[in-house]
Amino acid sequence: MTGSGTGSASGSGRVDLVGGGPGPLDLLTLRAWRLLIRADVVVMDRLGPTDIRDHLGPDVEVIDVGKHPGHHPVPQDEINEILVARAREGKRVVRLKGGDPFVYGRGGEEVAACLAAGIPVDVVPGISSAVAVPQAAGIPITHRGVAGTVHIVNGPSEIGEATLAALRDGSVTTVILMGVGALPRIVADALRAGAPADRPVAIVERGHHRDQRTTRSTLGAVVLDAGRVGVRNPAVIVVGEVARAGLLLPDHQLTGDAVR
Ligand code: SAH
Repeated sequence: MTGSGTGSASGSGRVDLVGGGPGPLDLLTLRAWRLLIRADVVVMDRLGPTDIRDHLGPDVEVIDVGKHPGHHPVPQDEINEILVARAREGKRVVRLKGGDPFVYGRGGEEVAACLAAGIPVDVVPGISSAVAVPQAAGIPITHRGVAGTVHIVNGPSEIGEATLAALRDGSVTTVILMGVGALPRIVADALRAGAPADRPVAIVERGHHRDQRTTRSTLGAVVLDAGRVGVRNPAVIVVGEVARAGLLLPDHQLTGDAVR
């Protein structure tokens, strides 16, 4: 197959930012797969479809720039430099990211770096954990008559007025990524701002993996409950009425058993 994306002559260097979804290989898109199996270089993260390594040819250079929460083993500007440098060598570079590249993936910065360097670049959307991880625990982030609005935040950031308003509003689902460390602060801010203590909370760890675990609680109790069970990253925290246990699918996980 030749000629991926727009504007680049076959064989010339380019960068594709590829969303890898929440982990399982069969949640990659076909476009992601096509780019991956033709790549010369794959620059990957800690999260997402890390098993892809087993499907890459022996000559493919795999560069792991995986980030742990709070630690950045490879700083962003160095990642940008790697992408640009490899593309300038004429390589087809896939920058593989967990979830979707433009949802807390710093994909915009990488696109900007490529454009500034005159490197052809494209973006392939991926299945974001913000949607797919709650879903794997049977939680629809919108549900007619229950929640019509979704507010997505990243835990480490300061909680602003818009997020406090979302947490207070019973018809909004707040989805928190990278939130395990920040949970006590977020909960304290939410309760102080008037969010009700009985607002349902679900924490879904390692969504779409065999050891997926869901902890159900409320704003008032979740810090204790999370501590008791030892909640760890990666996890998606859902605050809102859609997280109420038994809303739809009591204790039912939707993790693709039919195709395994
Ligand atoms: N671009 C990614 C998000 C990157 S931020 C996306 O669209 O999904 C990393 C955060 O994503 C983690 O801290 C966690 O909150 C969430 N996450 C990613 N994969 C996950 C998984 N399989 N299970 C639970 N949370 C996950």
